Amino acid sequence: MNTPSHLIINLALLRRPVAPLMTWPILIGAFIPDAAMFVFYGWAKAKGLPEHTIWSVAYYSQPWQRIFAVGNSIPLGLLGVALGYSLKRYWLGFVGASMVLHHLADLPLHHDDAHQHFWPISSVRFISPISYWDVHHFGRVGATLELVLVLAATAYLLPRLNTTASKIILAAAVVLLGVGYILLVGP
Ligand SMILES: [Zn+2]
Repeated sequence: MNTPSHLIINLALLRRPVAPLMTWPILIGAFIPDAAMFVFYGWAKAKGLPEHTIWSVAYYSQPWQRIFAVGNSIPLGLLGVALGYSLKRYWLGFVGASMVLHHLADLPLHHDDAHQHFWPISSVRFISPISYWDVHHFGRVGATLELVLVLAATAYLLPRLNTTASKIILAAAVVLLGVGYILLVGP
């Protein structure tokens, strides 16, 4: 899934109805699995790699795959949940829960770019037949599913957000995702 989709869906599903809302721990946990990818992209751009090489060669190279595995680890997210609750640092529990929710959303929507979700226990990758972007692997279906989930989460979140600024940011993110969707499935 696209990173903003994770932020929106996780916030809708995990945000508490009463204070503390845990907004920031949820957003941070939703972002952590993809954080290394942004570092990778910056590194690849700084090296002057062409866009195609970045996503079809460099992305699959070591040590990047090993680095991506850490952020995408379900056991690591569960450890965050366990530590958060045993140490009564509930914000940490929400970071971990949001990481796990991100992983569970990625599991059915990644084909050959699937993550090693069970690091460090196993390097196995679940190759889903459906991709969230690759039109050779039902990408239109995956992208539609992702957009529907984002729109439902947005409809739920918008009236519940407290500040105008946060509503504008959410709306802008959804418009961007919508444009990306049209570019992918359009003619
Ligand atoms: Zn992800």
